[in-house]
Amino acid sequence: MPTIQQVTKYLEEFAPRVYQESYDNSGLIVGDPSAEVTGIIVSLDAIESVIDEAIAKKCNLVVAHHPIVFKGLRKLNGRNYVERTVIKAIKNDIGIYAIHTNLDNVAGGVNFKIAEKLGLENVKVLAPKKQNQMKLTVFVPKENTQAVLNALGKAGAGKIGNYEYCSFRTEGTGTFRGNEAANPAVGAKEQLEEVSEDRIEVIFPAYLEGKVMQALRQTHPYEEIAYYLHALENTNTQVGSGAIGSLTEPLSGEAFLKYLKERMDLQCIRHTKLLDKEIKKVAVCGGTGSFLLPKAMGKGADVFITADYKYHEFFDADGKILIADIGHYESEQYTSELLRDYLTPNFEGLPISITDSSTNPINYFVK
Ligand SMILES: [Zn+2]
Repeated sequence: MPTIQQVTKYLEEFAPRVYQESYDNSGLIVGDPSAEVTGIIVSLDAIESVIDEAIAKKCNLVVAHHPIVFKGLRKLNGRNYVERTVIKAIKNDIGIYAIHTNLDNVAGGVNFKIAEKLGLENVKVLAPKKQNQMKLTVFVPKENTQAVLNALGKAGAGKIGNYEYCSFRTEGTGTFRGNEAANPAVGAKEQLEEVSEDRIEVIFPAYLEGKVMQALRQTHPYEEIAYYLHALENTNTQVGSGAIGSLTEPLSGEAFLKYLKERMDLQCIRHTKLLDKEIKKVAVCGGTGSFLLPKAMGKGADVFITADYKYHEFFDADGKILIADIGHYESEQYTSELLRDYLTPNFEGLPISITDSSTNPINYFVK
């Protein structure tokens, strides 16, 4: 069976922890990374009832979207549900792992799952982030070019959207003269050498720098590798908040709300005034998303679906867009499905299930 660390490492290949927001607390909150996993319960929230369920089902890892510990804990005496949950998890050797805003911020994550449930096409990150990529330029003797390119690609360099192993190269001549202490891979020391080289350029996510440079060092034959690393300003279309896509067929405002209610299994929707136009472009943000309204409007969305909208914020629709607040839990409920479906094929034989209980603390009186 895998260790907790093997499971969390696999989760972070999908949603690297560096992509969480600064205020967040994603990661292994409770637990021994080297412990063998007996089973996983996936949940939106790791609350006491979920820990009880894990104990009953003999599963020692809870993978949750929301971190149960968000701010610092200064006492641990069981006076509130956070402390009780943590104490219970520790006493019963249950690990709690949170995959929060990093899962919100990757293509294929929380918001892409909502888009999938709504049957949207051409789905993109709504507010892509900048400055999280780097460029490596390296000079390689021609006979080693292929090996270096393969290793860089395997380490995750050269991935752009749906493409991998992207690179560019130009041919040229490299020169060098090693001193008496040198041990050159080509030619002899204390002699000026000229070598046919390729200048290879690849981009990669900044957090992979260590891995990419290690791959380079392992395959490049030179004692001293000539290279440049550059931090890029580029927008990364695969990382950022929210998602935007289109319905296959436009719907009237009312028909859309009915469709939304059915697809997201909602009891009610809080929304702004229906507009006299059809809905085609749909922006979504699971959880608290009002900060993304200007982006949604800027990208021409007809509706913005999110949660936790406050009274005054609804006025910002200003007759230009339909705001639909579907509830925090409801908006993110399929995140558990997303995580289970990601984990299951990779850990065959390991019991992985979604929690039996709804962790939504909000009830609606609709009778
Ligand atoms: Zn949330």
